[in-house]
Amino acid sequence: MSSSNDIILSIAVPTPLRQLFDYLPPKGVDPALLQPGMRVQVQFGPRRMLGIIEAIKDQSDCPPDKLRHASGILENSPVLPENIMSLCRWAAGYYHYSLGETLSLALPQALRQGKPASAGTITLWKSTCELNDALRKQLKSAKRQLQALELIHTAPQGISEVELKEAGISKTILTNLAKKQLVSCYELEVHNKPFDSASDSASDSVSPLLRQAPLTLNPEQQFALEGILETPSFHPVLLEGVTGSGKTEVYLQAIAATLKAGRQALVLVPEIGLTPQTIERFRKRFRVPVVCIHSGLSDGERLQSWLAASRTSAGILIATRSGVFTPMPKLGLIIIDEEHDGSYKQQDTLRYNARDLAIYRAKMADCPVVLGSATPSLESLQNARTGRYSHLQMKSRAGGAKAPTIELLDIRQQLLTDGFAQPILDRMQRTLQQGHQVMVFLNRRGYAPSLICHDCGTISDCPHCDAHMTLHRQPPHMHCHHCDYQTAIPWACPACHSKKLQPAGQGTERSEQVLSQLFPDYPVLRVDRDSTRRKDALPALLDQINEGKPCILLGTQMLAKGHHFPGVTLVAIINADGGLFSSDFRGLEKTGQLIMQVAGRSGRGQMPGHVIIQTHNPQHPALQMISMNDFTRFANSLFSERQHLCLPPCGYLAVFRTESAYTQDGLALLKQLRERVLQHFGEMSALTPLGPLPAIMEKRQGRFRQQLLLQSSERPILHRVLNDLVGYLDGLKLPRHLRWTLDVDPQEM
Ligand code: ADP
Ligand code: ZN
Ligand code: ZN
Repeated sequence: MSSSNDIILSIAVPTPLRQLFDYLPPKGVDPALLQPGMRVQVQFGPRRMLGIIEAIKDQSDCPPDKLRHASGILENSPVLPENIMSLCRWAAGYYHYSLGETLSLALPQALRQGKPASAGTITLWKSTCELNDALRKQLKSAKRQLQALELIHTAPQGISEVELKEAGISKTILTNLAKKQLVSCYELEVHNKPFDSASDSASDSVSPLLRQAPLTLNPEQQFALEGILETPSFHPVLLEGVTGSGKTEVYLQAIAATLKAGRQALVLVPEIGLTPQTIERFRKRFRVPVVCIHSGLSDGERLQSWLAASRTSAGILIATRSGVFTPMPKLGLIIIDEEHDGSYKQQDTLRYNARDLAIYRAKMADCPVVLGSATPSLESLQNARTGRYSHLQMKSRAGGAKAPTIELLDIRQQLLTDGFAQPILDRMQRTLQQGHQVMVFLNRRGYAPSLICHDCGTISDCPHCDAHMTLHRQPPHMHCHHCDYQTAIPWACPACHSKKLQPAGQGTERSEQVLSQLFPDYPVLRVDRDSTRRKDALPALLDQINEGKPCILLGTQMLAKGHHFPGVTLVAIINADGGLFSSDFRGLEKTGQLIMQVAGRSGRGQMPGHVIIQTHNPQHPALQMISMNDFTRFANSLFSERQHLCLPPCGYLAVFRTESAYTQDGLALLKQLRERVLQHFGEMSALTPLGPLPAIMEKRQGRFRQQLLLQSSERPILHRVLNDLVGYLDGLKLPRHLRWTLDVDPQEM
């Protein structure tokens, strides 16, 4: 024991070890300056690492001669405030993960790497010309440049490069404008002074906070808004509103009220939901700074957003999953848009669900939290049923648009033209002729999901995974979508040497080719991960769509979310069947949600929308309910099934997964865990181990994957067992090629 008047730092170091480490304060640093939440440099074994002070104590269990001094501190005030520290402690406990790694994940990459927590400078672009008709005419063929110029003109002091980038304007466009001497840029030091909800009022403004007047809410929206603003203290609200019911308008008005009260708002969005359109809608409405955190930004830009939120200079933060860890000292409202979306769950390292952490966060900040969706998760519906969340519904579309009609098209025994049934092609033709747009949804990118030998039936498989290789034509190659392995297209069958290799099935690339041939008079715009890889590809595609001319939009789920395409009146869903018989217990739920989201893209403008679902299973009860636009009944049917099987949200799950070079090693380890559960907790009927079993794709990236599922009707029991098992696993010495992970509340099996 060290003497009691010593100061000992308990430091969280980013290692998988589930423990804290004691250090003495760095030499030459006044110990009175030290506070939890500060970054410190420490020597950890042979390595120098960056840790976070978790606590300051006066005693250590470590013998005094073993205690080392930390090497130095990186700042004079904590980067992580106490409430983020507690959020991380809670997450580390709940997901049974190392606190050091959890805290490290909570930091933006730049701070994790030891960069200073200062914003530095930002690049601002300013107009140096008058935007008159002559100039507009001159730039007529350079549409993006004109758009950029118009945006820059809205801000006399200039507009930041990040904001322009988020509006879909690339650096190239800006440099081209600069070459024409129409704009110039300058660097501005960032001061991060707190946003002001009262001052800054321009004479032409609607209010000091708003640039643009709010819409007049319809009664459903008004009721929802009042439900959210009922009290400024903690209360979760499930806002179930059909697509186009005006949820976003409700968010905007709830945020306005929050800002007016001098508080900040956090808006979480799914990964592919953070479109330029969404960001623009917020920036157009509000005068206070709106910052974003998403994967399209550089580390430096993300740090600036993070600091702006932390120092309350931003009033609104719009962010994907990891944004839930951003400090916001005046947090007064959290919105989780599309709360059912799978991207809120992180699938590696700390397997957290940002939606659940957001609820915890709202509780700490004592503020309202809104979970919005047209197709809520069963978890949230359950919370609404039991009264833990209030449940507000918006059943009709705002602004007069009608709900789309949904038709199930039975394709059994029908002749298909490259995957398309004739009635769909006919309807597409008519729709296009009427001058409307058509959206074709196919959740498979590439040319064809596999390449098959016509003579012997051999399919090209990935050598590293239990999966087929996908055929791509642009550029020509074979690609495994599970491990990224790529090879040339084989010219002969490896089994029988036949040269009759044929694409099997439909991918978006192939459909693009087919549709271009069938509808030569109309452009086919493909939107998927491959076609939008280039930075400005997506904005350019969206621009073309928004021109409103008749065209065919063809895409994967990238098209399904967040976009508002008023010109689309027909949506065709080509392969809905795949998801109906998934081995994952959530498969049907996800398929239903996806279909309803896609269907929700149609008829959002003045014209009514129609949806056609091609299926071999028109009698399937789920499809029947969906075709009646009845999500509630669909959800209820899923509920009874889950209840019966004691699956979430009617039971609790955790899964241990192993990955190993040899299949038997993982199995043996999981068997040990199972034995231990039965031995130590056998008397608890409330817990059932299932497995070990091979994962759905047993071999992936050359490694064998097994899993053990633990199922319980009571959460505390499950966590007691998990604690024991994790402790047990930590005490084992495992071979290097064998890894295990724990996933609490798994989204995917
Ligand atoms: P959601 O987020 O539920 O899909 P949005 O908020 O995007 O719906 O609204 C759909 C469309 O309806 C948008 O074009 C929006 O401008 C319009 N809208 C929303 N609320 C109103 C309202 N109260 N009056 C008129 N139009 C509205
Ligand atoms: Zn063959
Ligand atoms: Zn593979």
